[in-house]
Amino acid sequence: MSGETVLSTTQSVCPWCHRKLEAFRVLNGDEVVLLKECPDHGIFRTSVWRGAPLFDFWRRPKTPAYPKSPSTAVDRGCPWDCGLCPGHRQQTCTALIEVTARCNLRCAFCFADSGSSGKDPDREAIERFYRSVLEAGGPYNVQLSGGEPTVRDDLPEIISLGRSLGFGFIQVNTNGLRLARDRNYAKELKSAGAASIFLQFDGVEDSTHIALRGRPLFREKKLAVEHCAEHGLGVVLVPTLVPGINIHEIGAILRFAVEHMPAVRGVHFQPVSYFGRHPGSNSPPPHITIPEVIRELETQTEGRLKAQHFQPPGCENALCSFHGNFVLLPQGDLKAWSSHDPAGCCCGPSSAEAGADKARGFVSRFWSHPDAMGKKIDGPSLGGWDDFLERVRTHSLSVSGMAFQDGWNLDLERLKDCCIHVVASQGKLIPFCAYNLFYRKLKA
Ligand SMILES: [Zn+2]
Repeated sequence: MSGETVLSTTQSVCPWCHRKLEAFRVLNGDEVVLLKECPDHGIFRTSVWRGAPLFDFWRRPKTPAYPKSPSTAVDRGCPWDCGLCPGHRQQTCTALIEVTARCNLRCAFCFADSGSSGKDPDREAIERFYRSVLEAGGPYNVQLSGGEPTVRDDLPEIISLGRSLGFGFIQVNTNGLRLARDRNYAKELKSAGAASIFLQFDGVEDSTHIALRGRPLFREKKLAVEHCAEHGLGVVLVPTLVPGINIHEIGAILRFAVEHMPAVRGVHFQPVSYFGRHPGSNSPPPHITIPEVIRELETQTEGRLKAQHFQPPGCENALCSFHGNFVLLPQGDLKAWSSHDPAGCCCGPSSAEAGADKARGFVSRFWSHPDAMGKKIDGPSLGGWDDFLERVRTHSLSVSGMAFQDGWNLDLERLKDCCIHVVASQGKLIPFCAYNLFYRKLKA
């Protein structure tokens, strides 16, 4: 098409038949489109980057950090050899263990396509999952996921088991219903060794919850956060961003987060991906890209957060995520940390292996709850450097986002750089997007 430039080539799949296809990253104005053609299903154009910060400014060369102990061989080629295979270019930052396929909601959008039935893996199976993460080079950060993990009454025992095996950071991915209903549940999870709650939190308007989750949930989300605050359990709010439903809530979600600091430690936006269960569509469904989320963050916070406060990651592919670190000052301003903050996931010169170490360290430090819950720093400003560091420790907010890939926008170069790995039933580690696109149905 006139006015378009092919920037580079990669590989993708057909969203319908999953045939592997050559794909082109095509620049049209300030938009980058992934272009591919399936001999059976035709041409697909999916927007993968729209506007500033521009694609060329954001992308970074990837320094590989190959898996320490690959458990499969390169045979059929990416994405059919997971994993990890020796061709994968990034070690694990977070290992996801799915402790159940059951859920107590029936969401319109669910990457796991969870339901009300299914057999949970028993405790021995879960111990095998943990051990396979150790064999792959762990302990890495662990996220217990599902389904909805809290439907299992033995979740605290599963957390304790992980801690006893040497996992220092275990996070629970939850819709928060049980945390809201049972005031002491946060305490149970914390006592068992949970470091943080990864709380599905799509907005402050009930119309958003009804559209995405089938019923009003804001009251329960708020209670869940309050109960975590009471017991000193850190929370990361995790909004799924769906065009036409809750993009306008980005600023309100940030405000909610700030109002509930220091219990809320971060907001982690997830632009919707079309895998698992979602409303059907025959044409490319609407995606929101990373630069659009960053611009909305600036606009909807009236410039309290600015686009230049956000950086690409240091371990996974630059095109997969963004993050920024902020500290809430006593008078209510959010101050961005230096972009060269050495504690951040993605800053400063480093090898990609160090990138993974840093990312793990960052997540475990800043998504946990500060010990000094009751400690307050009063006054209009912070006096010395020590006060500032203490404030950073107790009142940091990480604002980040990760764009998962579906059959429409999948770029295998990005997939090879993935650092979020699902522990599959045979103990294999499978990059999150590959698992949801190709392996979940196979029960790999
Ligand atoms: Zn096809």
